[in-house]
Amino acid sequence: MHCCDTQGLLPVETALSYMREQIQPSLRFELLSVSQAHNRILAQDIVSPLDVPPYDNSAMDGYALSVLANCTQYKVVGKAFAGQPFQGAIKAGECVRIMTGAVVPNGANSVVMQENTQINGDFIELTEPAQLAQNIRLKGDDIYQGQVILNRGQVLKPAEIGLLASLGLEQVKVYQKIKVGLFTTGDELKQAGEALMPGQIYDSNRPMLKAMLDNAYIDIIDLGVIADTFADIKQAFIRLSTSCDAIISSGGVSVGEADYTKQVIDQIGKINFWKLAIKPGKPFAFGTLGEAIFFGLPGNPVSSYVTFEQLVKPNLAYLAGADNVSPNLILDLPLIGQIKKRAGRKDFQRGKLVCQNGKIIGVEPTPKQSSGVLSSVSKADCYIILEAESCDFKEGDSVKVQPF
Ligand code: AMP
Ligand code: MG
Repeated sequence: MHCCDTQGLLPVETALSYMREQIQPSLRFELLSVSQAHNRILAQDIVSPLDVPPYDNSAMDGYALSVLANCTQYKVVGKAFAGQPFQGAIKAGECVRIMTGAVVPNGANSVVMQENTQINGDFIELTEPAQLAQNIRLKGDDIYQGQVILNRGQVLKPAEIGLLASLGLEQVKVYQKIKVGLFTTGDELKQAGEALMPGQIYDSNRPMLKAMLDNAYIDIIDLGVIADTFADIKQAFIRLSTSCDAIISSGGVSVGEADYTKQVIDQIGKINFWKLAIKPGKPFAFGTLGEAIFFGLPGNPVSSYVTFEQLVKPNLAYLAGADNVSPNLILDLPLIGQIKKRAGRKDFQRGKLVCQNGKIIGVEPTPKQSSGVLSSVSKADCYIILEAESCDFKEGDSVKVQPF
């Protein structure tokens, strides 16, 4: 067992940095067409092969001209449309009718918007003086040729898809999807549509975790609910270990008499740590099984939710090749209400941002914070993060807040 005092609880930060050290990002890549690459992770830096825009063009419908001091009348000598440039050059005292996006003709150094002109036969009359360079979008203003425009490890959101398309790129190198195996354990668990007998509950974790894993760079292999026996759980792990990059189990990771997860991994793989100084979610296990990494989530639904988000999700993104996987927005906000807390575990309370007149004025914990109360997550829009060693918080105290 590594870096873990089994008597005590491992601090969340130590667990996170240990997991980061242990996980080797998957480096398999594939070529995809840009339109198929949405939400995938870039496996290359993108260097622009061209200037965007590729030529000076008009930002307005109006008239392109070369500004002459004190001249208010210009002769219209032609037209320029987007996609149909004006051929030739304009001379002093001339102008060209120009539409938005059209190439600025040779000789022009200003575009006067249509609203600031009056037509007078073959001439226009300026109703406002023309300014040099106005309403011209310069070549390379958005992106210049040779510029590194996207970085390896970036997730391709719609704006990035648009950027790649604006460069005329057909294909892009992305990391292959990672395979994530999932099952829940518990003899008490039933599926929707089945009747509940005494002592049974519906399996909320598996549908919830599948929803949390629903991501363009993840393929899920779902084994369903596995019975609480050593043999069944062992078989499930062995099946997943040959095909998966990561394996997630829910439940049975504690020290109860029907908790076999840790025992099985101890036998056929390696548990690197379990029992974290986190609330909710103390019985969280991390280890390896063959080539796959293993995350054992606690069965309580809120514990499962919180440990997945805080400990598993960023690591899956990292495994899949993403950079910058830590949450980027943490706010300091005054607490509205009070929180009772004992020192020892880092607490991820579920909270609600409180707004007044369009401003966030504080954060309020949602009413029931027990690890079985999933509605506390559903009602929340943020975590209130309370450091392990901190104790009670009173109204107005500053707390760290991580929006969902
Ligand atoms: P365990 O971690 O297996 O000891 O389970 C802790 C608590 O979470 C027990 O009350 C279980 O009934 C409950 N639980 C375990 N797995 C699930 C699940 N998939 N969906 C809902 N509740 C669960
Ligand atoms: Mg159980």
